[in-house]
Amino acid sequence: MRSRGDGIAAKDFFESGEGGITYDDFILLPGHIDFDVQDVSLETHLTRSIRIKSPVVSSPMDTVTESDMAIAMALLGGIGIIHYNNTVEEQVRQVRRTKRFENGFITDPLCLGPDNAIADIDRIKEEHGFSGIPITEDGELGSKLVGLVTARDIDFEPNRKKKLRDVMTTDVVTAPDGVTLEKANEILRKSKKGKLPIVDKQGRLVSLICRTDLLTNKDYPEASKSKDKQLLVGAAISTREDAKERLAALAEAGVDVVVIDSSQGDSVYQVNMIKHVKKAHPEVEVIAGNVVTPRQCEQLIKAGCDALRVGMGPGSICITQETMAVGRAQATAVYYCAKYARRNKVPIVADGGVRSIGHITKALAIGASTVMMGNMLAGTSEAPGDYFYENGVRVKKYRGMASIEAMDAGGAKRYFSEDDRIKVAQGVAGTVVDKGSLQNYLPYLMMGLKHAFQDLGCRDLKTLHRVLYSGRLRFEARTQSAQAEGGVRSLVSYTPPPEGRK
Ligand code: GDP
Ligand code: 5GP
Repeated sequence: MRSRGDGIAAKDFFESGEGGITYDDFILLPGHIDFDVQDVSLETHLTRSIRIKSPVVSSPMDTVTESDMAIAMALLGGIGIIHYNNTVEEQVRQVRRTKRFENGFITDPLCLGPDNAIADIDRIKEEHGFSGIPITEDGELGSKLVGLVTARDIDFEPNRKKKLRDVMTTDVVTAPDGVTLEKANEILRKSKKGKLPIVDKQGRLVSLICRTDLLTNKDYPEASKSKDKQLLVGAAISTREDAKERLAALAEAGVDVVVIDSSQGDSVYQVNMIKHVKKAHPEVEVIAGNVVTPRQCEQLIKAGCDALRVGMGPGSICITQETMAVGRAQATAVYYCAKYARRNKVPIVADGGVRSIGHITKALAIGASTVMMGNMLAGTSEAPGDYFYENGVRVKKYRGMASIEAMDAGGAKRYFSEDDRIKVAQGVAGTVVDKGSLQNYLPYLMMGLKHAFQDLGCRDLKTLHRVLYSGRLRFEARTQSAQAEGGVRSLVSYTPPPEGRK
């Protein structure tokens, strides 16, 4: 393989020669820097009409995205897609939690009723670590607030069977629904109380603010929000007939975008489902897929999709290419699909196979508008599931949605009809290392990405795509030894960077 002084254009690189190209098979040559890293904007289109500030999407997998992940992703400028390996009610609950989330407000505080006992608070304290509990008429959120119990009300009470009605404070300082966080914080500071329940006009409990959170309340200027200021959230659905009911419930809960989840998206089922969503719920955007060829894109674009999800087989837990002999190397798939979909202004979500900031950069540099990740995010504390130790390493479970394990838990929807008696696995189950909180991890990834944009001499994604298609962005193939040279070598041991921990 020969190189040329200034590399070659994407067209020459991807469209000559044979064989599929992966993210590791190429390198991008540097551009000219005439701006600061702070000047880089990562803003992008998720779909035709949804814009977000960080080009990252968390995958609809049951070990990756439920409401905690969706909330954190949206706060940090990306978006999460809630998986559907659950009942309709459960998925809707996750969407509602994300839509209802208000920074600084606990929108689903644990409540008790006047007939509960002090022992119930002891149990909550042990399980969740707090003991400031609003007391409502029937013990539920949304019912009339009748009092508040805090540690000071029950500290020295020897009889733990005593009812809360006998110990609760009834003279509670509250704030009205709709109050701004700033104003609520001011009330808390002035009243010197530890808890501020927020109530509606009828006195029903809506949410709660804790004094302990005053100092840690962060601002999220990049948060992904809809017009009504609620966080953006997506949800996955299948192409089957019964998904229409799920879709209706999700739309009712305020979902902003649905991902039609198929490993091979070019089917009549998917085309029909896209048309159905656009007709029955025109306010909901549709990400269709998965696709890896322009021919597949054409079908789904014609049907009216708002974005395309690209990838068949590159996922870290995926064995589709081995098992089914169908799929495509991810960089080739992203390049061709993006080039095609661009004519119709349909953005591409590059899905799967992303293992580093460099891979995110490359996916965007070959035409993707966002990158969907499972593996990279599954080890964060916002992903579902608990940490445990495996050979002394703190890990979390991460599994393919078509692993036998996930299909047994209900995940056969994407890959087979539920009544298929023999299930063929297209994924595996495993573990990933602890990555800490997304609150630290994602800003780290995004800062890395900004530096990469700066190295390429591009201030934003629009510029990056412009130089990609004009031929100004230059590529070079990476030989095996070039890849080895670019990796860490000749050390007895080393500490990998946060993104690279395996
Ligand atoms: P408490 O006085 O024992 O309730 O505890 P603190 O007010 O010192 O801390 C409670 C912490 O738990 C705060 O950071 C809250 O944001 C958090 N938290 C999360 N969910 C709830 C909830 O449902 N009720 C309460 N009281 N706190 C919650
Ligand atoms: P990762 O980030 O782990 O490399 O890739 C995540 C992507 O893999 C998901 O967004 C999804 O498209 C795909 N995926 C998830 N589960 C499975 C599975 O069991 N089999 C296959 N073939 N792909 C999967």
